[in-house]
Amino acid sequence: MSDFDFDLFVIGGGSGGVRAARMAAQRGARVGLAEVAEMGGTCVNLGCIPKKLYSYAAHFAESFEESHGFGWVGEAPVLNWDTLKSNRRREISRLNGIYLQLLKSSGVQIVNGWATLVDAHTVEVAGQRHSARHILVATGGKPSIPEFPGSEHVISSNEMFDLSPFPKRLLVVGGGYIACEFASIFNGLGSEVTQLYRGHQVLRGFDEEVRAFIAGEMAKSGVTLHLNTDVAAIERTGEGLQVRLLDGSHITVDSVLYATGRVPLVEGLGLGAAGVRQNKAGAVEVNDQYQTSVPSIYAVGDVTARVQLTPVALAEAMVVVDALFGPPAGKAPRGMSYYYIPTAVFTHPNIGTVGYTELEASDKFGKISVYKSDFKALKHTLSGSTERTLMKLIVEDATDRVVGLHMVGADAGEIVQGFAVAMKAGATKAVFDSTIGIHPTMAEEFVTMREAVKR
Ligand code: FAD
Ligand code: NDP
Repeated sequence: MSDFDFDLFVIGGGSGGVRAARMAAQRGARVGLAEVAEMGGTCVNLGCIPKKLYSYAAHFAESFEESHGFGWVGEAPVLNWDTLKSNRRREISRLNGIYLQLLKSSGVQIVNGWATLVDAHTVEVAGQRHSARHILVATGGKPSIPEFPGSEHVISSNEMFDLSPFPKRLLVVGGGYIACEFASIFNGLGSEVTQLYRGHQVLRGFDEEVRAFIAGEMAKSGVTLHLNTDVAAIERTGEGLQVRLLDGSHITVDSVLYATGRVPLVEGLGLGAAGVRQNKAGAVEVNDQYQTSVPSIYAVGDVTARVQLTPVALAEAMVVVDALFGPPAGKAPRGMSYYYIPTAVFTHPNIGTVGYTELEASDKFGKISVYKSDFKALKHTLSGSTERTLMKLIVEDATDRVVGLHMVGADAGEIVQGFAVAMKAGATKAVFDSTIGIHPTMAEEFVTMREAVKR
């Protein structure tokens, strides 16, 4: 009989924590999980899911407009923001319940409250200590907002979902995933959106052509984008929030969303007391097995500040479970590869991408070929929309492998997922060329690009 209360104690009931707890319990481990808020973490409560629901809501605006070209007549319906908010809340509560039920039915003991590490094998929650052979830190992250005169007036993405009243004029600061997605979504929902980014183009790290293309599409759809500038100060006035920019100009808006990155949620966690090493940014340092500097303590997901995506946190959790409790019968223990992680930005239109950007590929592989298609989707021949679609393939000449695939267009996330499988399997351009397209779709363009635009 073990001297510990639990084989595994998980801190955080988000993407990584719930997955690890459930899977470990299903392998016969005695598992405890502490969560201070609703079950499901950022993704379910304040991230992927509510964001995607609002993105669906926002897409209706263009659909109503585009329907006229297909013969539909009549006034466009108007948005009832309160209905959207309450329907979202209902769905998220349903998901919270499902997560709770899944954990309970797997035999995980849930402890409500804030957890603190006491030592290498002890966690304290609400004054009660729990000992565990292994501890998993999966506490995620939180928004990071710089301090400046008037920064008390700004909000983060956490507050956007329940904003009241609906912001008629919205300023979004930042050029990353959240800034671009929320600028698109609130533009679609009916806000007058201005987006401010300090650099020369939004979405640093994405393919240069993708960045320019999405900026153009967002501008066409109504987002006013200001590049190479930043906020100097914000003041509340009778007309709203008056935002002074570095160049001295002013914008007056109802709400200011700061989407300027997220930092690991580590304060009050007792990492120091337990001897867990953190990097300069506060992230928990882990090895390839997600083990921290304290061998009995592991960490996965956003708290390690590697790739902040839900499927990555899930995959990391599975590596830990396999390492600690063994893989499922007949399977090898899972490892984690950070190559060819597909990702989507749910802007309007979406971005879907997997593999290297053109610049990265040319640095890494030397000789590459670039295939590109920039076209008006069939739907928009009648819809009246001026939206265009960009598709791009990057091929390593020496091996003919497709090493980068990028798309800006409707449902890019859905389309790129399947191509990511092919690329993980090492598909070459010849394999793409020999694949029969599905006609008429946008996706078929990826298997019909014959002439390189650049070598
Ligand atoms: P989290 O899901 O954040 O879970 C951490 C949990 O730990 C939380 O529930 C928290 O309450 C709890 N906790 C923290 N400290 C303690 C403590 N001391 N004691 C007890 N409980 C504690 N990713 C995608 O893949 N696709 C998307 O479309 C997407 N959209 C996003 C949109 C937004 C607006 C945001 C903010 C994020 C989005 N993400 C998206 C990122 C994704 O949500 C995160 O990468 C993912 O949730 C990380 O999972 P995690 O397990 O590391 O942490
Ligand atoms: P990102 O790191 O993607 O973007 C942060 C943005 O804020 C960058 O444009 C950055 O500029 C800018 N910025 C940072 N600090 C400042 C500052 N002090 N003043 C002005 N601008 C600043 O973070 P997000 O908050 O957008 O999202 C966090 C993470 O969540 C993402 O990286 C992603 O992993 C995940 N996520 C995933 C989604 C998805 O999968 N669809 C959706 C939403 C989030 P610069 O580039 O110059 O540094």
